[in-house]
This record gives sequence, structure tokens and C-alpha cells, in this order.
Amino acid sequence: MTKREPPSTDAAAERLLATARAMNEQGLNRGTAGNVSVRRGGGAMLVTPSGLPFERCTVDDMVPVDAFGRANGAREASSEWRIHFDVYRAHPEAGAILHAHPPFATALACQRRPIPPFHYMVARFGGSDVRCAEYHTFGTQALSDAVVRALDGRRACLLANHGMVVAGDDLAHALALAIEFEALCQHYLLSCQFGQPVLLDGDEMREVIARFASYGQVRD
Ligand code: 13P
Ligand code: ZN
Repeated sequence: MTKREPPSTDAAAERLLATARAMNEQGLNRGTAGNVSVRRGGGAMLVTPSGLPFERCTVDDMVPVDAFGRANGAREASSEWRIHFDVYRAHPEAGAILHAHPPFATALACQRRPIPPFHYMVARFGGSDVRCAEYHTFGTQALSDAVVRALDGRRACLLANHGMVVAGDDLAHALALAIEFEALCQHYLLSCQFGQPVLLDGDEMREVIARFASYGQVRD
């Protein structure tokens, strides 16, 4: 990923709000579930506010959080701000983080099962499985710690009895990954209706992971 200058706060807030609204339009979110953030320079970030439906938010409701984890906006930061803050620290490549409770990912998360290599697209999220972070109460440091562990070497994870998190290069990439991840969860659940799916083996997945390194259009 090419290093870009972070956009000015106003432009970043507009893009953050547009992404939050797109989460609803894409069926990733309903009501006040879910949150999204974008990395700012120097360890800071901009995150959606807590408990406000995105369709009712304005750019002024987006909450700046500084490098010490202090929110300084007009609104309370998302209750899951720690997840966003800690995942940026653990993943220097991540420019945007999205958390949601979409139906298929959440149904799987309630089974507390990792997603095995049942489809080559599992590799899209960094490895040969997608882990499920252990259950902790929403908004806690313990949940954030569990998410950081589950995301080690990965771009997505499930959250037990809760939902999912994806880490993207930027907001557009995080939204695209979230849509792909929800589709993957739907495919897994559908396939499980016919019994346990046939799994790809280690060699097959290694080949896919290598191929994904140069897949698609070169990002500028
Ligand atoms: P916030 O409204 O505080 O972002 O919380 C939503 C959520 O999904 C908590 O896990
Ligand atoms: Zn949540």
C-alpha cells in the first residue's frame, strides 16, 4: 500500500459519514449497531459517535480521538473506540476499521466457530481461516484485546455472540472487505446446510494466498 497524506479532518469526516451510511445501504448495519473509523496522522483517528443512527448524523458528529485515546468531539465516541484504537496500533497497514453485526457473520459468530478454508476467498482475509475472538462484553478492553489477538495476520475476524471486524487500507477498502466477508459467511452457512463442506488443503490455500498478493488492479 502506498503511503498517503491523511485528508483534512473535514474531508475525512465526510468520507467517514458516507462510509457509515453505506454500511446501512449495503445491509451491514441496522439501527445503531456497528461503527467505523479512519486513521489520522500521529496515532489519532476519527470514529463514528456512540448510539446515533448514521442516517441522523452530520459530519460534526464524527469524533476525533487523539493518540492517547482521548475523544474531543461534540459527541461521545463509539463504545468500541478501543477496538479501533488498538487495531491501528497492531496493524500499521490499516487505514480504516469497520465493525458491524451483519446477519450471516453474526449468525456464525454466535456459533463461536472459526471459518475454515471451505472456499478460496477465505484467503482474501489474510490466511487459511478466519478466527473468532472470544466473548467479552461490548465496549471493554478485554473485547479489544481478544479482537487484536484474533486479527493477528488477518484482515477480518468474528466476535463471539456479537459480530465482525475488518481492517482495510482505507475506508473504501474496509467497506469492500466487509461486503465480501458477509458474502463469505453467507456461502459458509449455506454450504453447511448440506453437511460439512469439503475443505481446501494447506498447499491449495498457500497458492491462493500467493496469487492474491498480485490480484486485481494495482492500488495507487
Ligand atoms: P456504538 O453505537 O457505541 O458504536 O456501539 C455499537 C456496537 O456495535 C457496540 O458493539
Ligand atoms: Zn457491536
